[in-house]
Amino acid sequence: MHCPFCGEHETKVVDSRLVAEGQQIRRRRECISCHERFSTFEVAELLMPKVVKNDGTRQPFDEDKLRAGIQRALEKRPVSVEEFEACLTRIKHRLRATGERELPSREVGEAVMEALHQLDQVAYVRFASVYRSFQDINEFRQEIDRLSLNKETGGDE
Ligand SMILES: [Zn+2]
Repeated sequence: MHCPFCGEHETKVVDSRLVAEGQQIRRRRECISCHERFSTFEVAELLMPKVVKNDGTRQPFDEDKLRAGIQRALEKRPVSVEEFEACLTRIKHRLRATGERELPSREVGEAVMEALHQLDQVAYVRFASVYRSFQDINEFRQEIDRLSLNKETGGDE
């Protein structure tokens, strides 16, 4: 880290603190030459795995697309913005936690469905029906049956 005032190569860290809810580290640095002080921000790089589509092509993880898909499923559902954000965070965390650099798109879809399943059953079915594009009406029926069964036995497995 060069000093922005005199260009000196060596600076020392005089203070470090977490900012932006722990997402960033702010460091106060002091130039060993001119003694000017300045701040640097470091952001932990949270890499999302690449998504491997069915045809074998790789795409960068698209958070906006994920957001839009979930929002569509949640339309007019009694789910707060906080719950929505928490759901999104859970999905991303889960995908990252695999430690894989590439994930099949199917796995991304499954992660979304699992998170929606916990959040809102209607949204779950909506998303699943679009995502899986149920082969036939029987398959869709089975999914609905499975859901109502879960409800009767007290919800989550
Ligand atoms: Zn300097």
